[in-house]
Formats: sequence, structure tokens, C-alpha cells
Amino acid sequence: MKRDQRREGGRRPFGRAAAVMVMVAAAGLAGPGEATADPAAATPAATAAPATAATASPAKPAVKGILCGQLIDGRSDRPLKNAAILIEGEKIVKVGGPDILPRGIEVIELGSATVMPGLIDLHCHPLESTDSYQIDHLRWSSAYKALRGLKAVQDDLMAGWTTLRVPGDGDVFYAPMDLRRAINEGLFVGPRMSGAAHYISVTGGGGDINFMSPEQHLIADGLVVDGPEEMRKAVREEIKYGSDWIKLLVTGAFMSTGDSPGDVHFSPEELKAAVDEASRRRVPVMAHAHAAEGIKMAIRAGVRSIEHGTFMDAEAISLMKERGVFLVPTMYVGEYYVERGSESPEMQKMVDLSRKHQAEFTRRVGDAIRAGVKIAVGSDFGAYAPELGAHEFASLVKAGMTPMQAIQAGTRVGAEALRWDDRLGTVEPGKLADLVAVAGDPLKDISEMTRVTFVMIGGKVVKRP
Ligand SMILES: [Zn+2]
Repeated sequence: MKRDQRREGGRRPFGRAAAVMVMVAAAGLAGPGEATADPAAATPAATAAPATAATASPAKPAVKGILCGQLIDGRSDRPLKNAAILIEGEKIVKVGGPDILPRGIEVIELGSATVMPGLIDLHCHPLESTDSYQIDHLRWSSAYKALRGLKAVQDDLMAGWTTLRVPGDGDVFYAPMDLRRAINEGLFVGPRMSGAAHYISVTGGGGDINFMSPEQHLIADGLVVDGPEEMRKAVREEIKYGSDWIKLLVTGAFMSTGDSPGDVHFSPEELKAAVDEASRRRVPVMAHAHAAEGIKMAIRAGVRSIEHGTFMDAEAISLMKERGVFLVPTMYVGEYYVERGSESPEMQKMVDLSRKHQAEFTRRVGDAIRAGVKIAVGSDFGAYAPELGAHEFASLVKAGMTPMQAIQAGTRVGAEALRWDDRLGTVEPGKLADLVAVAGDPLKDISEMTRVTFVMIGGKVVKRP
């Protein structure tokens, strides 16, 4: 496994002090089980939250109400008009008409705005912020990437993304997991986070650096493994340093140099080793897969979600449906690159492939929607303009969802994929008060999702109209 190189002094790109700091940080990290089991712990501390109402005494949680023109709760097929939400501390306690709000409490009046559950982006790379992410990986330190990533996830929160899942990120160390830790400790306001520190790739795959001479011994952005034994070690190491998902690059990718999304990379034995090892620790696996054969191999191996799924065929769709596997199609990112083009040579591949396959991909996602596959929202953006990711809602509508289904995909279905649906994803009594609002009606104009005006996380307001 090439990761072992990271421990060899000669090849480690950072000084001893940086490595020690990372080790000390990892030593205090909550286990992945704990992190998964308690998203409530992710609530930003009162002291760190800007624009928050008066701090309550610890004995009695603050009670507040929200009034809005309509409420989309993430579960019902119809919105509730002239709705009220009663919040106590970090939780929702009642949902109904304005008469549910007791007299004398603080009431946030949002006028005709539409309130929805906090948005969930299941595929966000906060450390990758330019079209040349593999070059950035080589020239930026882990610490610098973490600082940029912190800014990115805070911007995402302000755009309405109250929960993010990281599907691996471009970093030698474990910066996404440390971002999550710092937010969970209340050092910074930020979204709830889950995910994998690295994408696991074969030699020459989408997580390897494939554009340098063989004389260069670089540490790739992905975690490069070959064979079931290296796979087991990689999975164990990911979990050790806080990944609460495992991310596998089962096929080639659109956005990397020197590989093809039509090729399957891992063998069935390698996939089985990954899922076995992760399952033993109750850690779910997400599989980046474009080629139909790779999608089917990943589902048969037991993964929980398929990322992208570009070339899925009828059999792949029925397997997803049958086994309850989530599909995170990340459609808009392709449309974005087709519209905008790219200066970077490696992203030119993304532009060309998206131009060629976008229409058939939209059609296949339509087939998956009609087949009843559980589809969730993922942006595949990182530190780009944070509202960009919300164009995914419109892409899902274009593929065949109703606006209501698309909103549920980015709220309730995302929470189910994370196994956090007992706390997140809907506006119902007992759930955490993660709420967003838009000024207009997203059921009439889905592009409203890109213009979130109000954000509350765990009962604390972080953005007001
Ligand atoms: Zn991705």
C-alpha cells in the first residue's frame, strides 16, 4: 500500500512537527461509531454561533417559534400553509398552525417564505477548490487545505447545507475528519459532517497521480491499494483516523488524469475484502462507479451507496432497487462543466465526457426514478460557489422527479442514507431543529433552492433574511 510511504521520514512531505500534531489530533478523536451514533454532538456550541438569540440557562432550553407561509416537512407530499414550528433547545417539539406557539416566546417571522429541513449534500469535497485539484494536492499542505476547507464548509452551511458527507478528499492526512472534530467540539460553527478521509483507488486509478514520470515518488491524493490484504489495511487505517464511511473508486473517473470511467478497477475479491472489513466495524461503504459492470459488482459486494452511476443499465437499476442501495447521481456538476468549460487540461476530460454522456445519463437517472430507486442529492462540488450544489435539485427535476421528490431527496432520503433519519431529514417533533427557508415557492420554481435566505442548525439561527 502506498500509504505506508507516508510513514517513511524520507518521503513524508511535511516536517516532524506537523506529523506529530496530526497524530495528537487523531488520538483524541471520537470513534466512528460514536460520531455516527450522535450527530447531536455536532451541534455548534452556543458561544461559537453568530447571530444566535440570547443564551439560555443550562437548566431550561430556550423556546422559540417560527412562522412561515408554507412548510415542506420532508415527508408529506403537500406543503402545510401558514405553518408554525415550536423549538425547544436544539429540537423541534411541535409543528402545526400559528396557535401552537405559546405567548411570550421569541418568534422568528419569515412571512411568506417556505421552510424546509436543512439540506443534506451526500457528496461534497470541501478540500478541493479549483479545477486542478490534483496539482493543488501536491502544492498545498494538509494544514492549508484544512483552513480552506473550513471556510468552504462554513459557506456551505450559509447556503443551506446543514449536513455534508465527504466522499474522500484530496489530502495526504485526515483534514476532513479534523474539520468535523473541530466543529463538533464547538471551536467553529459548521455543518454536521460524516464521510471518508480518502477515496481508495487502484494503482493508476482515479485516486492515483497518473501524469508524472515513473521516477517521481509522490503521495497520491487517494489511498492507493492493490489486492485484498492492502484493501483490508487501508479500510482499517481509514476507520482508525475517523472515517465513518469507506469510499471506493470502483471504476475509473471523469475528473482524473489517465484513467477511464468505462473501466472497472477493483476485483470482486478486493471489493469483498473492503465491505467485509468495514461491516465488521459497522461502517458503510460508498462506491464511486460509472461502468455498469462496476456498479453491479459493488452492489453485489454489499455497498450502501452508488456515487454517479453514469452507465447504469436496467439490471444495475433493478439491483439497486432490490437491495435498497442509495444512488447519488451528482448530475449538475457535469452540466456545469459543459456550460463553463475548463482551462485545466485534466478537467478537459470532464468537459468532453460530460458533453458526450450527459443526455443519456439524465435518461438513465429518469429510469432509476421511475423504478423507485432511493436517490439522494450530492453535488460533487467542494469549495466552489456554495449555491452551485443546489442546482442538483433542478437536475433531478429535469430527470423526472417532482420538485417535492427532489426536495425530499436532499433532506429525508439523505438522512436515511446516513442512518441519521432518527434525528435529521424531516421537520417533525423530536428531530433536531435544522431548518432552511427560501423566499419563494420551490414547488413552483426549483431554482429557489439556490437562494436560501434563512438557516438554523440545532435550534441556532446562523443566517437571517
Ligand atoms: Zn466526487
